[in-house]
Amino acid sequence: MRIAFIGLGNMGGPMAANLVKAGFHVRVFDLMPEHVKALTEKGAEAADSAVEAASGADVVVSMLPAGKHVRNLYLGENGLVEHLKFGALVIDSSTIDAQSARAVATGLAEKGIEFVDAPVSGGVAGAQAGTLTFIVGGSPAQFAKAKPVLETMGKNIFHAGEHGAGQIAKICNNMLLSVLMVGTSEALKLGLDNGLDASVLSDIMLQSSGCNWTLQKYNPCPGVMDNVPSSNGYQGGFMVDLMRKDLGLAMDTALQSHSTTPMGALAQSLYAMHSLHGNGTKDFSSIFAMFGQQDK
Ligand code: NAD
Repeated sequence: MRIAFIGLGNMGGPMAANLVKAGFHVRVFDLMPEHVKALTEKGAEAADSAVEAASGADVVVSMLPAGKHVRNLYLGENGLVEHLKFGALVIDSSTIDAQSARAVATGLAEKGIEFVDAPVSGGVAGAQAGTLTFIVGGSPAQFAKAKPVLETMGKNIFHAGEHGAGQIAKICNNMLLSVLMVGTSEALKLGLDNGLDASVLSDIMLQSSGCNWTLQKYNPCPGVMDNVPSSNGYQGGFMVDLMRKDLGLAMDTALQSHSTTPMGALAQSLYAMHSLHGNGTKDFSSIFAMFGQQDK
């Protein structure tokens, strides 16, 4: 099976590497040549454009920043819809708005090309370890076709519903994640300000009712955990501006469905302020720095 992989950033790079490791023939493209080079060193074939990567491919996987990039890749000028073969499968794992996912599904279907939205959860560590959670939107037949490919990059593969459902489930999850990250940061800083050791407090909360994923896998306080962005100057990981994007998607979705999301709205404001203070490209756990003792 020939696979094209477009978008080799923090997430796409390690995901593509796992496809190579699983024995697929993988042709890769990214706008940044150094990202392409890193993958060729792992056994992938380089392409000079998305069209070249996708020509003759049975499956295309994309991992791009936002909806406009995905729409443009498939349906824009010289989009892949004009180049993919009948019956090819497109797996878009970017986190984007559900409307864009549905529009791309419809545009590709007109040429007999299958599509699933398959956003992921699990972060860069999950992408590297091949343990991502995939949240898939598409028909049952499309889900079944995508599953063997997704299983080489992830551990839990969920079928959320029809096209767009994967994206809706994903933004519900990320809205909750942002609230957990803000709340965990606030609690840790309160403890620090009152003389507690952050590692001791984290251990206590891990065994208490405040336990959550950010404490288990992604502690925001520098020095508590190894191999997480907080212990690496908040580099790598999941950018503040990508979390802002996801919270924007959650708020847009809530507006359309007349849902009330006050905690998500507050997290969105906090991440917007954090970004405006120059932290947009840092990992989202850097929100920790916003809390703590004020000047008396
Ligand atoms: P990133 O910015 O590290 O990577 C995006 C890559 O896409 C970059 O290498 C960029 O050069 C490339 N790119 C952009 N436009 C392109 C185009 N037209 N053609 C080819 N390449 C193009 O971002 P990331 O952290 O890897 O995130 C990618 C997606 O995954 C986003 O939608 C994000 O919300 C989602 N996501 C990220 C994480 C995480 O922890 N980083 C977790 C879950 C989901």
